[in-house]
Formats: sequence, C-alpha cells, structure tokens
Amino acid sequence: MDIVELEKGFTETEEIIKKLAQECGNSTEIIRGANVSDTIHFIGDTRKISEKQGYVKELPGVIRIWDVSVSYKNIARLGSGKNGEVVHRSSRVVEVKGPDGLVRKIGAGKHIFIVGPDSPQTREQTLTIAKQAKAIGEKFGILDRIILRGGAFKPRTRPTDWRGLGWEGIKLLDEAREETGLPYVTEVMDHTMADKVAEHADMIQIGTRNAQDFELLEAVGKTMKPVILKRGFGNEAEEWFSAAEYIANQGNLNIVLCERGVKTLFIKEGYCRNTPDYNVITHAKKKTILPCIFDPSHVAGDDKIVVQNLLGCLSFRADGSITETLHSEAFRKEQKCDAAQALSMEVYEKAVEAILEYESKIYPLLNSMEQYFFQRSKG
Ligand code: PEP
Ligand code: MN
Repeated sequence: MDIVELEKGFTETEEIIKKLAQECGNSTEIIRGANVSDTIHFIGDTRKISEKQGYVKELPGVIRIWDVSVSYKNIARLGSGKNGEVVHRSSRVVEVKGPDGLVRKIGAGKHIFIVGPDSPQTREQTLTIAKQAKAIGEKFGILDRIILRGGAFKPRTRPTDWRGLGWEGIKLLDEAREETGLPYVTEVMDHTMADKVAEHADMIQIGTRNAQDFELLEAVGKTMKPVILKRGFGNEAEEWFSAAEYIANQGNLNIVLCERGVKTLFIKEGYCRNTPDYNVITHAKKKTILPCIFDPSHVAGDDKIVVQNLLGCLSFRADGSITETLHSEAFRKEQKCDAAQALSMEVYEKAVEAILEYESKIYPLLNSMEQYFFQRSKG
C-alpha cells in the first residue's frame, strides 16, 4: 500500500490515515487533485502500514489503494495504479537554511550556487573563500542562492594521499559559517559519523565513491538533513535513483541528485576527468521528483574547462551547481587535493554573472522552444 485515493471532503478519514502513517513510521504527502479526489502517498518503508490495508480500504471516502511499481517509489514522479491510472507528483524543493536567516531553495526554478574549496585546508583559505562567496552573493543580490562547500573528510583513491583535516576541517567550516552566515555542505563517508557531522553541517554530501554504501545512505537519511547524492562512477540512472531511495525510505525526501560525470572509454584519452552526462539531468527530473544539480569540477579535472562545463548544465535545467574554487592563485601549489580543477574566485564571479544573464535572456527562449514539444505531446 503506497497511495490511498480519497474522495474530497472526508477530512476525518484523512486525519485517521495520517495518524496511522505516523504510528507506522511513515510521513505523508497529499496531492490535492483537480477533480473529485486527493491522493495520500506514504513516504518511507511501507511494509508495516501495508498490513493495515484491509482496515484502510473500509474507511469512509476511500476510493482505492495503489501500489507503486517502480523500485524507487518514494521519489518517483509517477505513481501508477493497477489499472494503469497515473498520479503525477510535483517536484520537491529542498530547503537549506543559513544562520543568516535566508533559505536556499533548491529546485524552485533559480540556479543555486554551491561553491568553495575541495577541502578546507587552512583557516585563511576557508574564511577567505567564504567571504568571497558572500561578496558575490551580495554583489548580484543572490545571497539566498549561495551555499558553501568543503569536504573535511576526503575519500581518496590512494591510501597515501592526504585525506582532509577531519574534525579540524569541520571547525573551520563552522567558523566560516559563523563569520558569513552562509550554510555549508560537507561529505560524510562513514555511517557511524552521520549523526555527529549532522550536528554541524547544514547539508550532507554523499560522494561518488560511497554512492552505493547502503548503510551510509540509510544513516544519512535518518538524520533528516538535506543531502546531496553524487552519482556513482558508473551508475546507471536507475541505480542512482535507487540509491536515493535508500535515503527516502527513511522518510527523508530532502535529497538533491548531483551529476558529476561518469567514467567512459574516452576519459583515458586525457582530455577530461569524467564524461558529463547532461542528458541524465533531464531524465532524473522526469523520472523523479527530486532536484538535480551539476558538478563541473570533477567532470573537468582542469580549471580551464570548468566554466564551459558549468554553463553547459544550464540548458539542461540543472537546479544548481557545485563548484570547487581557489581563494588565491598562489595557493594552487599548496592545495593537497584537486588543485588542477580549482577555479579562481575571480573567474567564478564572471561565471555567476553569465549564469544570471542566461537565466534572464535564454530561459524565456528555451521555454518557448520546449512549448512546441509540450503541445505536440498533448495533440
Ligand atoms: C568532492 O566533491 O570533492 C568529491 C570527492 O566529489 P566526487 O565524490 O564526485 O568525486
Ligand atoms: Mn574534489
């Protein structure tokens, strides 16, 4: 039992079902239908509430009970009934609130700028980037669209590589947040650390290397914090959505998908670090209700092609981007991880300007082009 269709006006039944869901550990999402009925969707693991199906079926106003057939039912765009009926769910907006009181709304139609170092390495570096990011937000009047990034715990391919400052890095990010009012996102690699990191961070990142660590996904889901889920190295779209479902199954729908490029035959030729799969952004937004952002840094691997990749995601309507930056060119040779792809904040500022320009000039044109396909599908 995943969806209950209820005749409008049966508010008492609606309350009974919501209470029952709560008792079974599920939250609910109610979609108000345009006609005679609404649908109540159970979020989280529905095995327990399904045992009450016989009881729910008999409640006044209940029209029918549906099971959703896709494997990632909590985040699926469509709920389908046995007889082929379909319920379209609206897109999620994931909110990240900063200590400055501003709410960053990911998936609300405006590009969200997540920016900062690969990893906090020194106090000066972390605080300077945070202040630069804030200044860009103020300059363009988009402070409510800026989030700071920085991985204090670094997943590294080789065991001898530098693995981040750990808790010292979290302290630096806390200080940068304190100083600027910006919320921050940081990576969690191990399920035993999810709760502790969640006490500090405003948003949690699950990286590519851990994108199918199911215990980690569940632990992060339980924190109820907003989560960025990177796509695993070679994950098919459905594997990626199913990984997100592990988070959603804990009742946490505050998930932002992030395309960061996949490994292909061509990366061996050395012209990029990963191959950007822009089309998957469109697909993710069609198949799921989740926002989807883009990471141009790990796609590029080289700062000279980060901006081009970043601008590329706009026409695919990414809900935002997560970009690694550098506070001063002199620091590049000291940076211990992902130095080659770190974009100078000066160039990043210009990229922000270009994105805002794109939003105001190109999106109206893109809308009118897409209207053609919309009309055709209706006709
Ligand atoms: C990162 O964001 O620094 C990172 C490690 O990304 P990914 O997991 O996409 O490689
Ligand atoms: Mn990185």
